[in-house]
Amino acid sequence: MATLGIPANTIAVLQKYNFNFQKKFGQNFLIDTHVLDKIIEESHITKDDFVLEIGPGIGTMTQYLCENAREVAAVEIDKNLIPILADTLSAYDNVEVINEDILKVDINRLAQEKNGGRPIKVVANLPYYITTPIIMGLFESHVPIDSITIMVQKEVADRMQVGPGTKDYGALSLAVQYYAKPEIVANVPPNCFMPRPNVGSAVIRLTRHSAPPVQVENEKLMFRLIRASFNQRRKTLANGLGNAPDIPLSKTEIQESIEELGVPVTIRGEVLTLEQFAKLSNIVGKKLADKKQK
Ligand code: SAM
Repeated sequence: MATLGIPANTIAVLQKYNFNFQKKFGQNFLIDTHVLDKIIEESHITKDDFVLEIGPGIGTMTQYLCENAREVAAVEIDKNLIPILADTLSAYDNVEVINEDILKVDINRLAQEKNGGRPIKVVANLPYYITTPIIMGLFESHVPIDSITIMVQKEVADRMQVGPGTKDYGALSLAVQYYAKPEIVANVPPNCFMPRPNVGSAVIRLTRHSAPPVQVENEKLMFRLIRASFNQRRKTLANGLGNAPDIPLSKTEIQESIEELGVPVTIRGEVLTLEQFAKLSNIVGKKLADKKQK
């Protein structure tokens, strides 16, 4: 039975093991059964699924995952939580706890071993200090993924979902939307956690696109262009690209590329859509290839 979502049970476990929260690991444990039920519902897990959980803490959500999925792997960095997890998950034989830094785990191998390389589901109440590297790592390493349902800082969830022309729009929005369809499915206030975080939270589901929504010849180049345009938000796209050391084009070549895209050379990067960045990267890619041949 999943019972740790009840605050008194979480407190009892913490006291039994004399557990000290580690701020550096972003430890805010969920203590709200409604939120836990909602995450499980929105992650669309079935008994066929293998689920990767990042940062199980004392196993609160892990218990729910074990009851709803075929198999669970939970990666936890804090070695002090491992004996606690052995206790709180002792009733389940479909979970493996891995004491590792998620950024060092070969998730492709894990997906291969546990799920025969078929798409996995990721569910997590993420440690907020490494939200972006975790998400980008999952997407860029091309792990077979069906969906990622995660609790993140509210502001970060907003950034993943918005389109051009808003202050939250940036490299994260474009990267997430290139790989997946983002949907905020719940807003979660600080009092649902122990200890309470200083920020609001949201649960967002990222459903992997079956095919990319835009045609890009060189993904890496597109993301280089995106990063260069948002590194200097207040500058024009031309200046942003001109100042990027990893885009070896002259000022004139950059201006020609922007003109070829069909937008004014004075445009700012923050108003370009994903489709326009894709087009621009194909134009720039061709220019770089032509240059190499000369
Ligand atoms: N899932 C639990 C819950 O909802 O109550 C805990 C969530 S807490 C926000 C984040 C968890 O991630 C903590 O248990 C923390 O120790 C763990 N964590 C932090 N950094 C990590 C990393 N690099 N790799 C794996 N786990 C990490």
